[in-house]
Amino acid sequence: MLSRCDSSSCIRLILRVDAGPADAEGDDMTRTAVVGAGLAGLAAATELVRAGHDVTVLEARDRVGGRVWSEAFRAAGGSHVIERGAEFVLGGYETFRHYCREHQLELVDTGMSYYVRTPADRPGVSTDAMATLGRRAAEAVEAGNGARSVADVLDEIGVVGDTREALESRIEMSTAVRVDEVTAEGTLEHVASFNPQPSWRVGGGNQRLPEAMASALPGGIRLNSKVAAVVQHGDTVVITADGEPEPFDYAVVALPFGVVNDPASLRIDIPTRKQEAMSRVVQGNAAKLHFSLEEVPSTSAVMSVSGRFWTWTANGPGGAVAPVLNCFGGEIGHLLRLGIDQGAREWESQVRELRADLVMSRARALLTSWPFDPLARGAYTAHAPGFSAADADALAAAHGRVYFAGEYIDPEFTGLMEGALRSGHGAAAALLAADTKVAA
Ligand SMILES: Cc1cc2nc3c(=O)[nH]c(=O)nc-3n(C[C@H](O)[C@H](O)[C@H](O)COP(=O)(O)OP(=O)(O)OC[C@H]3O[C@@H](n4cnc5c(N)ncnc54)[C@H](O)[C@@H]3O)c2cc1C
Repeated sequence: MLSRCDSSSCIRLILRVDAGPADAEGDDMTRTAVVGAGLAGLAAATELVRAGHDVTVLEARDRVGGRVWSEAFRAAGGSHVIERGAEFVLGGYETFRHYCREHQLELVDTGMSYYVRTPADRPGVSTDAMATLGRRAAEAVEAGNGARSVADVLDEIGVVGDTREALESRIEMSTAVRVDEVTAEGTLEHVASFNPQPSWRVGGGNQRLPEAMASALPGGIRLNSKVAAVVQHGDTVVITADGEPEPFDYAVVALPFGVVNDPASLRIDIPTRKQEAMSRVVQGNAAKLHFSLEEVPSTSAVMSVSGRFWTWTANGPGGAVAPVLNCFGGEIGHLLRLGIDQGAREWESQVRELRADLVMSRARALLTSWPFDPLARGAYTAHAPGFSAADADALAAAHGRVYFAGEYIDPEFTGLMEGALRSGHGAAAALLAADTKVAA
């Protein structure tokens, strides 16, 4: 039974647990709480349910998907699905594709490349020149050793002037942090690669994947359940949501890095080694802006080097280009310079100027501002120079009966949907290996 308890809510809990289990059947099953119904939590929940756990998923929002958020948007007289959070399915997304197949969801080619963006305000810099230098930088990372930032590597290969600015801008937009804050290791391979590879989205919206995963869970999801504390007492993990403590055998904490890392958001014991590793995780920040177009454009990808934002038009599900202009801005300093804390006005006018080639509606653009979302506290994470394999292990490690998942944990696809799913898988596998009840 619960050994150490100091609050009145905990006393209520002991009384409830002493009164005996609600149903005898549930007693044989391991009760596991999954906190957070983003892709990481849903992947963990899916695998734990498959292994026979009694899983309760607690989610603070009134929807599943977290930073995957699709919405209908009116443009050119019709309705088109936009992505207010994660958009592009990229190369190597094997876990993402696996779950899409399981739920019969189709991936649609965007018809443009996420990786290649024309630097409109640096007309002397071509995308080819950026790709060549990007590859040279990646080779320099491979060849070198030691803890270097992307800025260090750009210094090393001697990129200067407009090309340097364009490269920095492109990389900062993808990592959502400054080039001097992020490790060069791995960064240029995934998030900031320059190779003209295709990119995809889930037909009908990326959020269809978390929705399908959630509806396949027998217990469903407890929406509007904000967890304030995850506390271990002996062999029990007590989760407190909306003032109500509840005992579980295990918990998977699949919350954004900014939430786990903020004691005011979540009461949880984090061991020192994990805290050290967390100090080498950098919180990226990003925002999106969507404009309705009056005419169907061609596909395009155009960036503002100075503004640290890029704009694109892409194919919709039927293969035709959607009359929507999508914009993404990254890195908190630049986002504040665009005035996103005051609304969309300044950024909107810069986009209208940059994309004068498009026939844009006079309707106000739709701003989605992730830095100010208390349940995300930023966009996604990157690693600081000096982040090591041992740090990655420490981030993924369980603490007692509490397991961790989230985009910030996967070492290869950090910050991405694929990383979130892989981390959920990893947490479930580690938990199942340790669960003596199931093994017995
Ligand atoms: C603007 C933007 C663009 C992006 N673009 C891409 C892209 O193109 N490609 C790509 O692969 N990835 C992209 N990403 C990253 C991707 O969205 C994330 O890596 C991934 O969705 C994270 O999943 P997660 O499960 O780790 O976290 P989340 O999706 O954030 O899930 C965590 C869940 O926990 C919930 N929660 C928070 N606090 C509590 C609490 N106290 N109690 C209970 N629940 C709580 C949240 O509401 C959320 O549902 C983008 C992200 C953003 C913001």
